[in-house]
Amino acid sequence: MIEIKQLTKNYGSFEALKGISLEIGRGEIFGFLGVNGAGKTTTIKIMAGLLKPSSGTVKICGYDIQREPEAAKAVTGYIPDRPYMYNKLTGREFLKFMGELYKVNGKELEERVSRLLEEFSLTEWQNELIEGYSHGMKQRLATCSALIHHPKVLIVDEPMVGLDPRGARLLKDSFREYAKGGMTIFLSTHTLNVAEEVADRLAIIQGGEIIASGTLSEIREKAGSNNTGLEKLFLQLTQFHDEAYDGAVL
Ligand code: ATP
Repeated sequence: MIEIKQLTKNYGSFEALKGISLEIGRGEIFGFLGVNGAGKTTTIKIMAGLLKPSSGTVKICGYDIQREPEAAKAVTGYIPDRPYMYNKLTGREFLKFMGELYKVNGKELEERVSRLLEEFSLTEWQNELIEGYSHGMKQRLATCSALIHHPKVLIVDEPMVGLDPRGARLLKDSFREYAKGGMTIFLSTHTLNVAEEVADRLAIIQGGEIIASGTLSEIREKAGSNNTGLEKLFLQLTQFHDEAYDGAVL
């Protein structure tokens, strides 16, 4: 469903991505982890068609995001880390607007909007202006808008930041449900317990390169750390690579 091949991105002479490759299947939740500045948002923006890579390809459901951007975007839902929303619209108006952009119309759109508002506990607030929503409510509304056109692939940048435990639980449970229904979910996060809990497979990016990938137990095995929690493993792997890098520079 998602195929990333030898992706690179340079900002001037700085290499933010140094040739990353990943394949993610139908119904899989994939956790994408890395320290600040590792290259997560750059990767996600390229996947969502918001940034041009320097080289390499991204295919979503077989559609090349550079060559067939409309077809790729039609099957993709994207939740940015800081979603932009029209504050002077109500939640319901915003979802209808987003649905129409994706060519969902009429009765189907009305039903879809009502169902998503219900699912994400926003029905009570649907006719209030977004400017009055809390952070968690805005995050849930952004999730509804990304799901409005029944995407096959959902790309999520830092979904849990600032959510209270109930909001986080709701989001984690719905990611699991959607993946069970066949949706592929690409989840970039710093919140390691979220990745540990919901992701089927993981990749750790550091300095624009994938330094580890696989299921948690595969990563543990490669790192020679049986039964280690993801946090400890993450710190161990990222520190090891920092030291290797420092050594190379010296
Ligand atoms: P964070 O977790 O802090 O959001 P990230 O893993 O998402 O980090 P990116 O935002 O992808 O990291 O940034 C990767 C690297 O590219 C960083 O060193 C960053 O400073 C650099 N970078 C990102 N955008 C630009 C830009 N527009 N111009 C120059 N450098 C950039």
